[in-house]
Amino acid sequence: EQQRLTETLRFLSERDPLTQLLNRRTVEELAAVRMRDSDTNDWPLGVLIVDLDHFKRINDTHGHPAGDLVLKATADQMKRTLRSTDVVARFGGEEFLIILDLSDGTHAAEIAERLRRGIAAMTVPHEPPISVTASIGLWIRMPGTATEWSEVLAAADQRLYIAKAQGRNQVCAGDGDEHILADGSCPAPSFSRAG
Ligand code: GH3
Ligand code: MG
Ligand code: MG
Repeated sequence: EQQRLTETLRFLSERDPLTQLLNRRTVEELAAVRMRDSDTNDWPLGVLIVDLDHFKRINDTHGHPAGDLVLKATADQMKRTLRSTDVVARFGGEEFLIILDLSDGTHAAEIAERLRRGIAAMTVPHEPPISVTASIGLWIRMPGTATEWSEVLAAADQRLYIAKAQGRNQVCAGDGDEHILADGSCPAPSFSRAG
């Protein structure tokens, strides 16, 4: 009984109550562990920030409870797309953070694009039904680079910003050797809404 209570308390302290995803504090603890594993074993990490597009409009049009339904549906959709070894967290209001396990050569940009498409294809049950899109910044952290988590986050966030600026509902990806182009566009596979 005591053990069950301890486990329940632990679950609650690590999760976001609305989506049941990991919360920000927990994902930041896990990130440190994943970065250490990546350095020790010489494999890259995929770090994604997923931000829902024009989410404020959904709240304004359909109300806050409907916005909550969309957040839950997005979390469930992403969980279905990701593997159990990936880390997925609610990072802020309508922003999610994902750390992909790339130890087996998994193509991070493909997973990011699958997430984008899955979210865009959702119809959230509501009267009227609600659709949403997401912009995704993906940064691939190569082992031994960007030793600070804040650097990793800043790199992914910069790409998210470009995905928004380029028109939303898209992935901006890049790895440690790629720099933002002089015209501010995305350095590497940038999947467009048409893709
Ligand atoms: P952009 O495409 O640039 O990301 O636009 P946006 O409207 O998604 O971004 P903005 O940051 O302006 O608005 C985010 C909104 O998310 C505002 C806030 O009310 C809403 N939000 C944050 N947390 C929650 C929540 O837990 N539930 C609901 N329903 N809304 C939330
Ligand atoms: Mg948003
Ligand atoms: Mg946001």
